Amino acid sequence: MKQLIPLFTYSLIHFLVPYCLSILVTYFLTYLRKKQKPDNILNMGKILFVSNRLEKIRQYAEIFGKKPYEFFTSSDENSALETVDINSPDIIIFDAEFSGLKHLIKKLKSATFSTSFILLAKNEKIEYDISKYFNAFLTDEMTEALISAVISANLKTKHSLEQLSGTNKNLADSLYRLNVLYSTSSQFAGSLDKEKLVDYMIEGLDKSLSFDLTCTLCTENQPVLLLNSLYEISDELLSALKLRTVLNYKSLFEDKKPPFEIDTDTLKVVKTVKYPANRFTFTLFQYDNMFAPISLGDNFFGCIEIFKETPFTSDDATCFQTIAQQVSLPLKSATLYQEIKETNLKLEKLERLKSEFISIVSHELRTPLTAIKNSLDILSGGRCGEINESGQKFLSMAQRNVQRLAGIINDLLDLSKIEAGKMDYHFANMDIHSVIDYVKSSLSVMAKEKGLNLISEETPDLPRIYADSQRLEQVLTNLVSNAIKFTPEGKTITIRSHEADASQLNAPDCFKDDINKLSGKYIVVCVEDEGIGISEKDLLRAFDKFAQIENSLSRKVGGSGLGLPIAKQLLQAHNGAIWCDSELNKGSRFYFAIPVSTAGVESEKNLILN
Ligand code: ADP
Repeated sequence: MKQLIPLFTYSLIHFLVPYCLSILVTYFLTYLRKKQKPDNILNMGKILFVSNRLEKIRQYAEIFGKKPYEFFTSSDENSALETVDINSPDIIIFDAEFSGLKHLIKKLKSATFSTSFILLAKNEKIEYDISKYFNAFLTDEMTEALISAVISANLKTKHSLEQLSGTNKNLADSLYRLNVLYSTSSQFAGSLDKEKLVDYMIEGLDKSLSFDLTCTLCTENQPVLLLNSLYEISDELLSALKLRTVLNYKSLFEDKKPPFEIDTDTLKVVKTVKYPANRFTFTLFQYDNMFAPISLGDNFFGCIEIFKETPFTSDDATCFQTIAQQVSLPLKSATLYQEIKETNLKLEKLERLKSEFISIVSHELRTPLTAIKNSLDILSGGRCGEINESGQKFLSMAQRNVQRLAGIINDLLDLSKIEAGKMDYHFANMDIHSVIDYVKSSLSVMAKEKGLNLISEETPDLPRIYADSQRLEQVLTNLVSNAIKFTPEGKTITIRSHEADASQLNAPDCFKDDINKLSGKYIVVCVEDEGIGISEKDLLRAFDKFAQIENSLSRKVGGSGLGLPIAKQLLQAHNGAIWCDSELNKGSRFYFAIPVSTAGVESEKNLILN
């Protein structure tokens, strides 16, 4: 115990007393500073008086040589310049009697922008030439109170101006940041490339916060740590940053398991260094830092930490959060876009494979089908002996089905050729009437067999069109045979033709896009029936590949569901369009339009002239 007492006294004298004293002094100084600050800041003013008149110097020193003023005097040019340089006065009072006054004023005016210049004249008669340099005037005749009032008013004006310029600077800074945010968000909106988006984010942060280092962890596919740094990073610092980033990342998921396991040893690092000749010499603890996740709802893309040697302000924090949040939405869009692109590529590949498959299978089916058809023809022709009546019945049933099968195979082949861009077209100037006549006569027997009336109502002398007659016959045959298939006995099917301007064409809403693409004059052919019709919701679907719209006749009449999609593609190749208008249980009107070719008309004229 005895030994402990000196030790205690020693500690008391050497450590505790100085420590307590230093705390007290600091507290006292802070208190004093707080107490003095408001008033003094407002009224405090440094005044320089430039004069050779001793009595004036004395008078002014009397007035301003005490608080809240700091008063300096100069009686020659050099000392005036030096005082301005060292003390930066708020106000300079120039004695009008000072020799070399103009010269000094000119020198000082260019060096001090914010200092108020006041002229002390003998009386109020001041030459205009010199008066322009001054903010206020004093005269020898003024009382002390008036002099104080003039100086105090000038000081106040000067402080207000300084505050205003400070506010202006803040405003300019905010405006600059807003501009950076705006241009960064425009860059975000204009890109669907993930790497570019992250680059834009770093660029935006650099412009608005001017950081020393950012560590961005991107977790998609393979996790990558992007380091954007002012100076070169040592190996030790790199290890520390990796560890820190992984810990930050884990902290975002609290108790939950993070979506990606990130191993600091294998974490890929991409480094961009602005000044590689320099190296960070401080530890990270000496830097201020901010951290934010880059995520949108449940979609997590990564996180970013930003370091700066000087402290970040609350405005910096807002700006940082805004940019980190703003990049999340375009990153999400970019991810979706990437997925859609990949799915599209897969679909395109599948579509190509399907077309190739259809083409090969159809070719392979056609050869044996031709052999079957020929054999049936030989049998039914009686060249292998007499066939009895029921045998004939079965034979003609087989022939009909072979015909149907051949039709489906031809459709499949046509479609695969069109989709592969391998369809041959033989365009020529032609007359639509010939197409209508051909189809009418070739299908009239079929219509008659079904007890239907197939008629045509054509506008005579329609302009000629530039088209492939065989393909148009194929389109019209499909439309008329559909009409025959879907119209009950005793009804009428009418084929109409007329000329129309694109602006006069009318179609249900679902076909409006196709019609709106057209411009100029067209020959329009319409196949009208009084059949079962198509409901409005199924109109567009009728043109889909392999579409079979469920109705009372669909199972009975069968079909490949390829006729209308083929017709649509053929008309597109003619720069035309196809559409239909229908009412359930009332009938349908299928239209197609082919442009009246001016080139065709021109060559026609030439033919006639020759
Ligand atoms: P399909 O060879 O099966 O007739 P289409 O592509 O020509 O194939 O027609 C597709 C579907 O459109 C048909 O299955 C039918 O349901 C409907 N359709 C076509 N034309 C008519 C019509 N005139 N009346 C009623 N439904 C029709």
